[in-house]
Amino acid sequence: MLAMVLDSIGEPLRAAEVRTPAPEAGQVLIRVLTCGVCRTDLHVVDGELKDPKLPLIPGHQIVGEVVETGERVERFVAGDRVGIPWLGWTCGRCRYCERGRENLCDDARFTGYQIDGGYAEYAVADHRFCFPIPDVTDLQAAPLLCAGLIGYRSLVMAGDAERLGLYGFGAAAHIVTQVARHQGRQIFAFTRDGDVEAQRFAREMGAVWSGDSSNPPPEELDATIIFAPVGELVPSALRAVAKGGVVVCGGIHMSDIPSFPYELLWGERTLRSVANLTRRDGEEFLSLASEVPVRTEVVSFPLEKANEALSALREGRISGAAVIVVEEAKRSSSSS
Ligand SMILES: [Zn+2]
Ligand SMILES: [Zn+2]
Repeated sequence: MLAMVLDSIGEPLRAAEVRTPAPEAGQVLIRVLTCGVCRTDLHVVDGELKDPKLPLIPGHQIVGEVVETGERVERFVAGDRVGIPWLGWTCGRCRYCERGRENLCDDARFTGYQIDGGYAEYAVADHRFCFPIPDVTDLQAAPLLCAGLIGYRSLVMAGDAERLGLYGFGAAAHIVTQVARHQGRQIFAFTRDGDVEAQRFAREMGAVWSGDSSNPPPEELDATIIFAPVGELVPSALRAVAKGGVVVCGGIHMSDIPSFPYELLWGERTLRSVANLTRRDGEEFLSLASEVPVRTEVVSFPLEKANEALSALREGRISGAAVIVVEEAKRSSSSS
């Protein structure tokens, strides 16, 4: 099969013919239809996340069709459309797994990091960690699987905030905005200074205000979520929230956070991160995404152009989400 392979950190992916994997017991083999491109893929390729499997096929927002099932797979049959997310395996035995916090599992393994991912024509996955895909197109569905899921978990951590700030208006933020509006919240979008394109995009998606991240919002906020991997935003975000407000860091990697005066945290403000996802997040979010319904804005790239997709994301040239299209998907949503 054709795959885009990372041989060593910091190098472009290499288009290669590699052996199509065979499903082991408990695994499904899927024909990849689409695979979303996530900022985490950049962190892996650029070496900000340590010790990836090498060589590695990146990609952890995979939409595909089951073509073969290993022994003991009863949930899916050939022909089913499934989504494969970042969380690829957990031990099921550690104190986190036992308490419903499998996102924090000590031995968790992640798709497109310790397990080969979806920048390829085929992929295998543990069936227990795959999701049935709701009634949206393959292209639309891919960004739901990480941008949507992590965005959703971040939104839940933001509590019942009515006035919600989002720092970085990319794939996750444009999905969170739709869900938050559906819940009756107001969105305030912060972008890189001077990025009028992203600010316009945010208002098109329903933000009540958008502006430069170095400026304060027009009113106090109840919570903010930081999706941009920029530590300097943490003091700004704390400054933007009212007493009792929450600042959620939604990314897996962030540059160092500068020191800040205690008064920014005082007043029972909370600063926290969100790590990975649980399968329960996936079930809840995918059902909510159908209800809203979430419509993702996607920019598509053929598999061989995965390096271009990564560069475009790195340079902030994507409005919405970048998605790699492996198999030209013929199906379309029957509800729209
Ligand atoms: Zn565990
Ligand atoms: Zn991701």
